[in-house]
Amino acid sequence: MVLNLSIYPHVVNNKNQLTGYFNYLMMSLKNILFLSLLSVPLSLFGVEINGQLSQGSIVSGQVDPGTTLEMMGRDIRVDESGFFIFGLGRNAPEKITLTSINKKNEKKLYIFSVHQREYKEQKIFGVPQNTVKPPSALSERIKKESEQVWIARAKINNSLDFLSGFVMPLKGPITGVYGSRRFYNGYPGNPHYGLDIAAPTGTPVFAPAPGAVELVHPNMLYSGGTLIISHGFGISSTYIHLSEISVDVGERVNRGDLIGKVGATGRATGPHLDWRINWLDVRLDPQLVMKYFPLVP
Ligand SMILES: [Zn+2]
Repeated sequence: MVLNLSIYPHVVNNKNQLTGYFNYLMMSLKNILFLSLLSVPLSLFGVEINGQLSQGSIVSGQVDPGTTLEMMGRDIRVDESGFFIFGLGRNAPEKITLTSINKKNEKKLYIFSVHQREYKEQKIFGVPQNTVKPPSALSERIKKESEQVWIARAKINNSLDFLSGFVMPLKGPITGVYGSRRFYNGYPGNPHYGLDIAAPTGTPVFAPAPGAVELVHPNMLYSGGTLIISHGFGISSTYIHLSEISVDVGERVNRGDLIGKVGATGRATGPHLDWRINWLDVRLDPQLVMKYFPLVP
């Protein structure tokens, strides 16, 4: 199924023309919306996008092999068959642009509408105070740990593990969702990017999809026991506050394998799993990713 939303391609030959068309397009918003209602079959224009674009979502698509793609100035990896994916962050703007250059050096500009979400506010009391306003003595440690996490998430491999779908890594009540604005012990903190699933300490956590273990850390300041698994094309999943981690870096896991146990390590008020999914450095909503890549029977 191909749903194409708000697409307005133009063939342009040089940079000035591109800018000109861009300005024109920004002024012709009505036309763009009109096209989106018609659900233009994008394949006619050389780019196919599957699914709806929303803040926090992942999307996949198809271009003619040999085409290069750029989204808002960022290169998108296109494989030999023309397949690509990209993710949209929590604050992705209302309109994003995608530029394609095919083998004949024809440049096309696409503008997409991105569904804008509203996020909840969540106030949390009782987290360790050194994780709310960390003393400066901890800043080196915080910096080092965050670098380790971003290096692990930046790994791109050719695996298509994500295509076989994602399931929940454990069952339990959902106590925190993607995107909510958070206050810790009364102080505003970063938004919440994970899906929190409450469960007693020691509850097994299972791999939601096949992948390769990229990072294992027994106790980071904020995230406690931390595990990162890559699933191909820059998609990674992160598991935090774990009390135990059952896998090692470099190991391959299959869906359903035991990867660790629920804990309350790091900045947590009680035992739960905080499960996160990224496309490279872009944080995605695990619930949208599960919908987009459901389990393939
Ligand atoms: Zn959380």
